[in-house]
Amino acid sequence: MSQVTSQVLSSERELSATGGYPAGMAHSDPPGSPDSTHRAGVFGGASWRLGTVSGIEITVDHTWVLIFGLVTVSLGTRLGAAHAEDWSPGVVWATALVASLLFFTSIVLHELGHSLVAQRVGVRVRSITLFVFGGLARLESEPRRPRDEILIALAGPLVSLVLAAAFSGIAGLFAGLAGDASGAPEVVAEASTWLARINLIVAIFNVVPGFPLDGGRVLRGVVWAATGSFARATRVAAASGSLFAYTLIGLGIFSVLFGRQLLGGLWLVFIGWFLLSAARATVGQMLIEQILEQVRVAHVLERNERAWVQGLARVGELVTRGVMQHGLRTFFVVDEREQLRGIVTLHELSQVSEDERSQTRVEEIMVPAEALATTSPDESCWDAFQRLSEWNVNQLPVLADGRLLGALTRERLLAVVQARLTLRT
Ligand SMILES: [Zn+2]
Repeated sequence: MSQVTSQVLSSERELSATGGYPAGMAHSDPPGSPDSTHRAGVFGGASWRLGTVSGIEITVDHTWVLIFGLVTVSLGTRLGAAHAEDWSPGVVWATALVASLLFFTSIVLHELGHSLVAQRVGVRVRSITLFVFGGLARLESEPRRPRDEILIALAGPLVSLVLAAAFSGIAGLFAGLAGDASGAPEVVAEASTWLARINLIVAIFNVVPGFPLDGGRVLRGVVWAATGSFARATRVAAASGSLFAYTLIGLGIFSVLFGRQLLGGLWLVFIGWFLLSAARATVGQMLIEQILEQVRVAHVLERNERAWVQGLARVGELVTRGVMQHGLRTFFVVDEREQLRGIVTLHELSQVSEDERSQTRVEEIMVPAEALATTSPDESCWDAFQRLSEWNVNQLPVLADGRLLGALTRERLLAVVQARLTLRT
């Protein structure tokens, strides 16, 4: 449990992914280092940015390279075997490569379907990422109403269905032109047939009613609407998701042992495991929400006046006294009335060269208070936690009328959650 909670506490919500060959799906808790500024991939590691659509950053995780390679090689091998006589190896592999790229473009469109509907109903979308199990859209919060949940969830599979129909139309069109001496229409027809089929598989796989798949989200929306309880709906959808995940794992093991399908079987096991951890993390997340909702920031804030400094203090002092001696990583710059003026973290301190530390004043390098996310003593820890995630920071200054009372940290929230979970069981 503690591992789940710490993962959830360091991540944001995500919407289901999709996949294709041989399937794909969703994720709920990328281990993320909250104070890192570099772009971390789904499992950590690198990811690359492709561009932005409607304010949503589209990225490719390094693990995607594996599935892209597998899809391309598997398609190329099949096309090569089927057209040993009439297609040159160049045509075979160019077709496999282009079709595979179009397939992953289809996955991005599937996620964009979710994302654009989410934006329509007022849920902000942080990013869309292609990774080893398909794609995933990261939403900043849960939908507020059952209807929104259902609409967002249905949009993805709907896009996949439309793509399947479109590719099937193209395939029909070009099949009619077959017989052309160049053979080009046949190549297009064949690639389009594959794309139509695989988009259809993506649509069908994702409507399986097990959370966190799209169908599981629809189920949650329906149960939520029927019972009025988001918590109960999540539990039902996650239980059904776990059942489906175990089924996939069982099928995977069976096909490795008895079907001699080593790669396909292992793939099913991985996807099942992945779904299972996502379903569990979602239930964990909900528990956390229930706990943090009940606690006020005033009760858990930490007040460490060693970390409070005046704007005129020198950077050198902070480094030698605060960082070296007391192991502090964040300093709060306050005036004589304890009004917060800004903060200085190790990041700002590290920008000052050793020679300049004795001359540089803290106020010259601080991040001003206006540019900071803050919280107030009366706020619920859940709301404050969401702000931590949204701003991707480790702590929030707690202010009352601009006066600094202390700080709310992720570590402290985690400790609160763990303590309450322990008391429960
Ligand atoms: Zn989806």
